Amino acid sequence: MSEKINVAEIFGENVFNDTVMKERLPKNVYKNLKLAMKGEKELQLADADVIANEMKDWAIEKGATHYTHWFQPLTGSTAEKHDSFISAPNENGKVLMEFSGKELIKGEPDASSFPSGGLRATFEARGYTAWDCTSPAFVREDATGATLCIPTAFCSYTGEALDQKTPLLRSMDAINEQSLRILKLFGNTTSKKVTPSVGAEQEYFIVDRDKYLQRKDLIFSGRTLFGAMPPKGQELDDHYFGAIRERIGAFMKDVNKELWKMGVSAKTQHNEVAPAQHELAPIYAQCNTATDNNQLTMEVLKKVAYRHNLVCLLHEKPFAGVNGSGKHNNWSITTDDGINLLDPGKTPHENIQFLLVLGAVMKAVDTHADLLRESASDVGNDHRLGANEAPPAIISMFLGEQLEDVVMQLIDKGDATNSIQKGKLKTGASTLPDLNKDATDRNRTSPFAFTGNKFEFRMVGSSDSIAPANVVLNTIVAESFREIADELEKADNFDMACHDMIKKLFTEHHRIVFNGNGYSDEWVEEAERRGLPNIKSMVDAVPALTAPKAIKLFESFGVFTESELRSRAEIKYEAYAKAINIEAKSMIDIASKHIIPAVVSYTTELANSVIAVSEAGVDSSTQKELLDEVTKYLKEMKAALKKLTEVTEKASDITEGKEQATYFRDVVKVAMDELRAPADKLEMIVDKEFWPFPSYGDLLFEV
Ligand code: ADP
Ligand code: MG
Repeated sequence: MSEKINVAEIFGENVFNDTVMKERLPKNVYKNLKLAMKGEKELQLADADVIANEMKDWAIEKGATHYTHWFQPLTGSTAEKHDSFISAPNENGKVLMEFSGKELIKGEPDASSFPSGGLRATFEARGYTAWDCTSPAFVREDATGATLCIPTAFCSYTGEALDQKTPLLRSMDAINEQSLRILKLFGNTTSKKVTPSVGAEQEYFIVDRDKYLQRKDLIFSGRTLFGAMPPKGQELDDHYFGAIRERIGAFMKDVNKELWKMGVSAKTQHNEVAPAQHELAPIYAQCNTATDNNQLTMEVLKKVAYRHNLVCLLHEKPFAGVNGSGKHNNWSITTDDGINLLDPGKTPHENIQFLLVLGAVMKAVDTHADLLRESASDVGNDHRLGANEAPPAIISMFLGEQLEDVVMQLIDKGDATNSIQKGKLKTGASTLPDLNKDATDRNRTSPFAFTGNKFEFRMVGSSDSIAPANVVLNTIVAESFREIADELEKADNFDMACHDMIKKLFTEHHRIVFNGNGYSDEWVEEAERRGLPNIKSMVDAVPALTAPKAIKLFESFGVFTESELRSRAEIKYEAYAKAINIEAKSMIDIASKHIIPAVVSYTTELANSVIAVSEAGVDSSTQKELLDEVTKYLKEMKAALKKLTEVTEKASDITEGKEQATYFRDVVKVAMDELRAPADKLEMIVDKEFWPFPSYGDLLFEV
């Protein structure tokens, strides 16, 4: 039997949370910190000194030797530089443990190696990390020991954002301010703050580490660049929600334990659709904490897998022909006194505030579909979005039967007089209870689905930060709210004006609503008729960031400056080019040093057997046929290898940025596919003993 875990006891034990702060900090310091957390007062250095000292003592009790400013640069992962708490040794050779308020509040990593998209020249290497006191500090335990992690924002000498967190916090301010205006219109005087709530469901693959180490493609690029389909794929749907295997179960148990200790509320775990694919979902939290927690979850998944001699693949598409991984970003807007602005209640047609908010979200998503699409674009996600997989690249909104009916009543008759009610679900077995049905069925094919009291944005890639998606969601909805509030605040008759506004929003933006099958070809045609953008790749998505519409939007809320947006676009093109370049070079390496030599050895064996068999006076035509076939594909492979090598080398002559990224997509990726095709055919006919690395079957079914 494995070790027992007392969740209630360990949950949050490594978090410097409110309880700990209240317990350890002097009353006035605690009060000032709370005000700083609410954004109402700046934290003074004297208070920061006290907090830092308490934080340090607490962390040392937990075994911490180091602290780190933990931040999220634009590399896609988190970054950290560890400093130990020790002071310079005194004359007795002893050290003290020190941590000052200054060190808590501000750090200065040498930032020249982080992507800045031209915001900083390397000679201006200064970058600062600044404590985000709204996201709790925590102690992380791993092979390096215990480390006090302080969530921080990261910006340049001139204050430009170089990370994911800074714009996220800015966008939270934007939606807070505008939401409060909407609430006020409805007579709400009690809510003081509005915060987006986010729950990110995380999908991932687990493979055996010994097998992984034999796959250079997985090591270098996180996905398989070669590989024939196994005889069995996911067609039986027998993995989805299937019993969790022992080895995976032991891994999940450790993951949960680690996460719970650090205050991440890991809640749901199950097997996903593809073999070796799984999912973990936390309980939702406020937007920036949820973002930090998701980064932490990805880290923990990787580290704990390692300890179990497994590897966690977070790539969006580790295996061709098998479902990829994403992240469902569940999003709602909640007040500090517990009102969810996206809760329709039992009778949505009477919930005017909800209908107005719904109309605002429809307008936001319709107006800025391109930005939402962009926010979910990363290199790996190109294999999902716009390829023949979930979800489609066209942004549409699923409302479900009940809400769609209310919206249509308003559009058609100018008034909504009823809401379709949920029924009873008859189980038909006398020993089973009849269940209350939800008013709306689920739709799994929509990229942006209303699911009860939240929207679920399903496009984000499994390895990506959820910050960009939430920055966009928060800001575009803030813009809708602002425009609506600007008009309604002036109205003489609020009820009338609000009614007209809702009708107008629904009528003008209904084209974004689609309740059907988002994977069908008909939808692609229908969406085109409706004029909805269908942006098929990351390279095509990036320009949305710097479109005049986006610059105006983000600048007006102070979320991004134009130069920040331009830098982000540059970083994305660069990331794309670099990733494909690595993939291409890995393929060249694997093909020339592993696959081709293996196939050559096999042809030698075949040739020998042709000779031996004919010498024995037996018909050797089958051996010969096989030899011909293998030789044919080998020749194809050699030619494709030559071409890929040439086009990859040429890439460095092309101007960096959009042009180079486009070249990688249109030329290099095509040459990669041409090399893969004959190699995968060879894998099907060459003796397994000769094949230089584990197959899809080995990786997916033998964990
Ligand atoms: P579903 O079955 O619709 O996917 P779940 O109940 O499994 O929904 O929740 C999925 C994720 O959504 C979880 O992380 C959950 O905490 C989160 N979630 C639930 N309600 C909300 C909400 N009001 N706002 C944001 N996230 C939410
Ligand atoms: Mg879900």
